[in-house]
Amino acid sequence: MSREDYEVVIGLEIHAELATKTKIFCSCPTKFGGSPNTQTCPICMAMPGTLPVLNEKVVEYAVKAGLATNCTISKDSKNDRKNYFYPDLPKAYQISQYDKPLCEHGYVEIDTEHGKKKIRLLRIHIEEDAGKLNHDEFAGDSLVDLNRAGVPLIEMVSEPDISSAEEAEAYMRKIKSILEYIEVSDCKMQEGSLRADVNVSVKKKGDTKLGTRTEMKNMNSFKSIERAIKYEVDRQIDVIEDGGKVEQETLRWDDVSGKTFPMRDKEDAQDYRYFPDPDLVAIRLSDEYVENIRKSLPELPESRKERYLKDYKLSEKDARLITSSKYLSDLFEKAIEVCNNPKAVNNWIISDISRILNETEMDPIEIPFDGNQLGKLIILIDKGTISTSIAKKVLEELFENPRDPEEIIKEKGWIQISDEGAIKEIVQKVLSENPKSVADYKAGKDKALGYLVGQAMKQTKGKANPQMLNQMFKEELK
Ligand code: ADP
Ligand code: ZN
Ligand code: MG
Repeated sequence: MSREDYEVVIGLEIHAELATKTKIFCSCPTKFGGSPNTQTCPICMAMPGTLPVLNEKVVEYAVKAGLATNCTISKDSKNDRKNYFYPDLPKAYQISQYDKPLCEHGYVEIDTEHGKKKIRLLRIHIEEDAGKLNHDEFAGDSLVDLNRAGVPLIEMVSEPDISSAEEAEAYMRKIKSILEYIEVSDCKMQEGSLRADVNVSVKKKGDTKLGTRTEMKNMNSFKSIERAIKYEVDRQIDVIEDGGKVEQETLRWDDVSGKTFPMRDKEDAQDYRYFPDPDLVAIRLSDEYVENIRKSLPELPESRKERYLKDYKLSEKDARLITSSKYLSDLFEKAIEVCNNPKAVNNWIISDISRILNETEMDPIEIPFDGNQLGKLIILIDKGTISTSIAKKVLEELFENPRDPEEIIKEKGWIQISDEGAIKEIVQKVLSENPKSVADYKAGKDKALGYLVGQAMKQTKGKANPQMLNQMFKEELK
């Protein structure tokens, strides 16, 4: 059989760290990047006799995420202990949720090459993050940092509805964008705020029974998720084609070698010996509580997109790209407020800004300048103070060292030459230096004009006003 005879089945368990100020069961700060073990207390270090108290914001944020993904909110929920031993988990159990998660049975829609597709969510539950082990390869030992222990997480478990690496990426991007819009997580993947366990299996086309899955833990970049899925699909098909059986196991994806490696056999629920946490009360939510959160939900990406199509006449593709990130979309709206030129803002975002984001693998949240600065840059172009080619340099400067665009062009001496006398001088100089092009132009080769303008631009380091140059050359060549 060939590869085309197989179908791919994928389910994602996405973990998002919630953007609460304090941890889930104590009042330690959750801020990323502190010195090791400076954001800890007896509770998150699991000292004997300490008791957890649930942070209400965690429930609110999880309910928000549930409502934004069309889930049913459980009015009656609880916390359970998931028992396992690992050095980054001082209690030797994680407080999570087992049979009564806060949110169940939702869905999100993704765009695929065959149109829209619903990916169902089985559940969203709340739990605490573990600490972090730092391995010292030289000394050969490991040090534990418990700053992350007790940082609140939601785990969003999808149904196995995803059929390709591309769909997995689209789904993860959709979840990321929703969580950003409702402001429950900063979703910084490089800081581990958003990561996914990726479950993959293959089956023969038409088979109703799912194949055996493997699970790749803690993936935190779109690129590695895509590579890992493609690798794992090929590996599983090879195993089956060779007459073997895929083992159910937990794998580690190695980005350098581009391969997966077994980590351990897959645990079953019974290995975790779940039971209700006796130190915490049940979570009961009133209808009113849930309705108030529903009412507080902000505009979501889909409806922003529709608004952009209508109000700014963006193309479907551009509107989707801009609204896929709350930060890009906020940048777009703020810049329009400042310069009142939606078309230009749209163009700058989808072309130059997107290109720089791609090249530098930067997430929109990391864009160092704001909509005010982008808007001012566009005003400078519209007023003719700078040319588009200079504006591109200003944009690069905004990424490097953001400040007022006007300040940048003054400092760098990038103001456009629009003085008629100065332009005439340059034109005459270029004409006298390029007799061949002049002759070509007079012989009917219009292309020669472009060359002459280019020369003038080069001599002025892109500062001459291109429209004025064009006109002046034509006049002088008459
Ligand atoms: P756990 O991994 O914690 O045991 P679950 O049994 O709930 O959790 O399944 C985890 C994920 O695996 C879910 O996202 C689910 O959609 C996905 N999944 C389950 N079976 C398969 C399968 N045969 N192939 C691919 N994904 C699967
Ligand atoms: Zn603490
Ligand atoms: Mg799992």
